[in-house]
Amino acid sequence: MRTKSEKDQEFLRLTREAKSCRLCPRMNASVRVIGPASGSLHAPILIIGEAPGRLGADESAIPFHGDKAGENFEALIEQVGLTRHDVFITNAALCNPKDENGNNATPKGIELRNCSAFLRRQIEIVDPKIIVTLGLQALNALKLIEPHEIDLANGVRKSWQWHGRILIPMYHPGQRAMIHRSFANQLADYQFLYESFRRVGSRNRRASTVAPTSSTIAAIAEKLASNSGGISYFALHKLFYLAEYEFFRSHGRRMTAAYIVRQKDGPYVFEMHIKKLKKAIGGLKTWQSGNRLMLQAEKNVDFFARSNIPKDLDLVIDRVLTKYGAASDAELKRVVYLTEPMRRILRQEKTSRNNFFNRPIDFGSTDAQGELAV
Ligand code: SF4
Repeated sequence: MRTKSEKDQEFLRLTREAKSCRLCPRMNASVRVIGPASGSLHAPILIIGEAPGRLGADESAIPFHGDKAGENFEALIEQVGLTRHDVFITNAALCNPKDENGNNATPKGIELRNCSAFLRRQIEIVDPKIIVTLGLQALNALKLIEPHEIDLANGVRKSWQWHGRILIPMYHPGQRAMIHRSFANQLADYQFLYESFRRVGSRNRRASTVAPTSSTIAAIAEKLASNSGGISYFALHKLFYLAEYEFFRSHGRRMTAAYIVRQKDGPYVFEMHIKKLKKAIGGLKTWQSGNRLMLQAEKNVDFFARSNIPKDLDLVIDRVLTKYGAASDAELKRVVYLTEPMRRILRQEKTSRNNFFNRPIDFGSTDAQGELAV
């Protein structure tokens, strides 16, 4: 079994090789979607999609995030109680294939063969107990690593033994695949996955230490965005991060199960993608101010009573708003970079001479109490 540091080193090597890979000519301009955003190298579940989507991972560099397939996927895992903390997500082809009109295309056999060594190495590094394939292409891509006879229609929602692990074939969460397997049916597939996950147990499980999910996150975002004059999308993510940090310092556990990653300009909260916010917050106004996306939620809404959210969480949000609600984007950026989780990442980046963009922010463990250390 590999140590944590061996896994990190091997994954870094693989990521670098993938970034410079030019084996598939039509994918030369596509993002190589592999890196910290793929998930934990210690995740018990490894999920394999077909290829990054043009409007999703090819733009966000985050697997299954930003397009409709990503939205469905995130809703499915959340509804059964899984989070991105529990899974490592990759694709049979690491780059987005486009057709001659620039639309998403299916990866060709040669492209899946080209990328097969990367897939095999990811499986070896993560060493998951459960592998999930999303769609036929992903299921077939495994045959290039070790042959199997499983077909999707008969194999779905069942556990198979493959390559010394449990293999659970599922359908792709994209809209087209929903024609063949409805969202409700796919939800039952994810429930089956969750049961399998519970049976194998997991050291990596964090859901017991983190609290509520998207409805709580949306309520917090709504409260933050109800600041008079609106708030920039940038500031919303930073204030949410500061609230998580404040809550963690005072309670010793996370405020929500939000998946927060380090991006180029600081923390970014997956669950607060603008499309999700527009859906979740009724009456949310958005407008452009120069190059800043601004948001304004309705005022005078009793967010927390309505959403059944504990008072202590409400108090933390109030403290953060009082302290930073009027701060400029530049000030907020400075503040978040001075928090311990961000400083820890910066130190690691300096030591390894790498950037860790899209790496989940680890709040660590602390018994510190009280005010933010900034
Ligand atoms: S899909 Fe895989 S093999 Fe093809 S160019 Fe991208 S990284 Fe290389």
